[in-house]
Amino acid sequence: MSARVIDGKAVAASVRERVAREVASFAEQSGRSPTLATVLVGEDPASQIYIRNKRRACEEVGMRSAHHGLPAETTEAELLELVEELNRSDDVDGILVQLPVPDQIDPDAVVAALDPGKDVDGLTPANAGLLAHGTPGLVPCTPAGVIELLRHEGVELEGAEAVVVGRSKLVGVPVARLLLAENATVTICHSRTRGLAEVCGRADVLVAAVGVPRLLGADAIKPGAVVIDVGMNRTEDGLCGDVDFEAASEVAAAITPVPGGVGPMTIAMLLANTLEAARARV
Ligand code: NAP
Repeated sequence: MSARVIDGKAVAASVRERVAREVASFAEQSGRSPTLATVLVGEDPASQIYIRNKRRACEEVGMRSAHHGLPAETTEAELLELVEELNRSDDVDGILVQLPVPDQIDPDAVVAALDPGKDVDGLTPANAGLLAHGTPGLVPCTPAGVIELLRHEGVELEGAEAVVVGRSKLVGVPVARLLLAENATVTICHSRTRGLAEVCGRADVLVAAVGVPRLLGADAIKPGAVVIDVGMNRTEDGLCGDVDFEAASEVAAAITPVPGGVGPMTIAMLLANTLEAARARV
């Protein structure tokens, strides 16, 4: 069997087109465009690229972005002051503080200081709590992208056995909560899980968010499963996921490639969240 390859770029493009249409009608009704404030402390080259891509994506769908670049020696108090200013600003709908921040700043303190209504990364304790409560506010972008891919593929989640490998606040836990909200039967695996391949082998839907190159091979895939690989691992042979794509493709019904699977969905869902945040403020 050779699995269907889930085209994240195409699904992300359709999300962006929808957001662009909705941004146009929002702007027509409200007389303003949704605005994302981006904040970067320091000059980490990878972070600069991420911010540039996010700002360009905003502009492509008709949103505004306003960037705040702070020097690497910025203190936590100074960053919190900027966050407070952006929280209060009527011109700002969404705030994105690019992580990681330099060592002198506690990232949890910065995230917790964001106005939950402007937290377009969906990482504040308030938004995590709402998700846990089953009444989501703004949902983290990558997990939202995973669900959007499954929805787009027409995967039946109700009653399905879903296994998520990884329990981070950023990906694993919110993906699991979203799958539960779709009425899947959800198991979360982590570094202490015994018999990982065996547990994964029960999954109709397997989501890997680990950060270990090709951790999951054919023995971890149930025949006919749908495999979503969130992993983005840089190796000597280039970027690869947490799933051994070649081996898994022989067993799965559908699988996301790395790159070109979940990755493109993250920015698309950031745009969708920024629009949602803007609508909620009207
Ligand atoms: P993270 O915070 O490092 O969490 C990794 C999780 O994997 C932890 O829960 C850890 O378990 C678990 N784990 C580690 N080794 C394991 C093993 N051998 N067996 C089973 N579980 C294991 O990472 P993250 O932020 O969630 O990111 C995960 C991956 O997704 C990374 O490759 C990252 O680059 C990628 N990512 C991609 C996107 C995207 O846009 N495509 C966005 C975000 C992240 P413990 O909790 O027990 O330590």
